Amino acid sequence: MNSEEGYKKACGIFPGGVSSPVRAYKAVGGHPVVIRKGSGAYVTDLDGREYIDFVLSFGPLILGHADPDVLAAITDTASRGLSFGALSEPEILLGEAVTRAIPGLERIRFVNSGTEAAMSALRLARAFTGRTRIVKFAGGYHGHSDALLVKAGSGGATFGIPTSAGVPDAVVHDTIVLPYNDTEALRDLFRREGKTVAALILEPVAGNMGVVPPDEEFLMAARDVTQENGALLIADEVITGFRLTYGAAQVLFGMEPDLTLLGKIIGGGMPVGAYGGREDIMRMIAPEGPVYQAGTLSGNPVAMAAGLATLVKLRTPALYSLLEEKARILAEEISRAAQQVGLPLQINRMGSMMTLFFSDRKVTDLASAEHSDVRLFSLFHQEARNEGLLLPPSQFEALFLSTCHDDRVVSEAAARFRRALEKTRAKA
Ligand SMILES: *Cc1c(COP(=O)(O)O)cnc(C)c1O
Repeated sequence: MNSEEGYKKACGIFPGGVSSPVRAYKAVGGHPVVIRKGSGAYVTDLDGREYIDFVLSFGPLILGHADPDVLAAITDTASRGLSFGALSEPEILLGEAVTRAIPGLERIRFVNSGTEAAMSALRLARAFTGRTRIVKFAGGYHGHSDALLVKAGSGGATFGIPTSAGVPDAVVHDTIVLPYNDTEALRDLFRREGKTVAALILEPVAGNMGVVPPDEEFLMAARDVTQENGALLIADEVITGFRLTYGAAQVLFGMEPDLTLLGKIIGGGMPVGAYGGREDIMRMIAPEGPVYQAGTLSGNPVAMAAGLATLVKLRTPALYSLLEEKARILAEEISRAAQQVGLPLQINRMGSMMTLFFSDRKVTDLASAEHSDVRLFSLFHQEARNEGLLLPPSQFEALFLSTCHDDRVVSEAAARFRRALEKTRAKA
């Protein structure tokens, strides 16, 4: 089957031909890619076209595709059984590695996705505080559970769906949405209504309205106002966990949340999520406490082994500073090319995650992200694809680099970005 045949068939099987909406390429046009294989920094589609991959499964693949050590751990573990519905050794070892790397994680619970982690942490926060209201930020994505599907970034921002159909008003009624990076609005809300809030949930570095780094003052205010009002602070580090440092972004910023959400990288490309934090709060979870949350495949040994093998490799000294350097060089090259070509481009970057916003304004929140020229982005995305660059098919997603994006790949990628920008300019 070639890509066109594959996609056509998929459209008769899956809604929109895909298993997750952004994959359908609705925002950029053209047929979505149908992948045959990935290796290191590259993926190949069903037509045999090779791309330098900056999607990397939307974040998990920090070691690139098909890392030999991760594969070895998976096959070794799988050969001894795929799932037991019981405690197993890989689960204990990954739990130990993660809790050691992130000081605030006194206890952790593994689940199967970031969505599940966020949903469970909300239930826990509500039980612990005896309150119902949640505060989130516009453009923040915390998975697709009902209460969090308000102004939820990438998918929603792209498709202009502020809140999903099928979410009862009563559920969303308890969700308050504030602008990201707006310290004043945050303080003001908590001054008035802080005592009714169960939890404030935020991405320490926003990644789902495109990359938007936080003002440090804003993160500190998030910690202060929750503490002062008896609300819990939930750091959603599903993207940022082990992406910017060995551990969580909260450590880089000196922000100590009560609960932390993880996913993506800690599963090494397998379906994993986790939530954890203060012991007194985590004790509320069944079987120790009254908050029910369970999972047939939670802590799956094969997934745990993939995550553990990934973390072991991430402990290599200088790994994160190398990633940072490659990403910086690439961002500088792209920025220079955009300037020379005469296209308005803002590059927001933290370590090895970045977004190229087609905009002449600084992007600091959802409103400024939405100021971007999505028509220009769509043109650029098509040209980049023609040049052999696989980019996230939305203006409001992050590009990622892996440890396989070495000097050679980065310099080849930079040349392709430049050509894509030139062709975009010619057609704009
Ligand atoms: C991806 C993501 C999620 C959801 O994780 P899934 O595994 O896709 O359910 C939650 N929060 C953030 C910040 C994410 O980037």
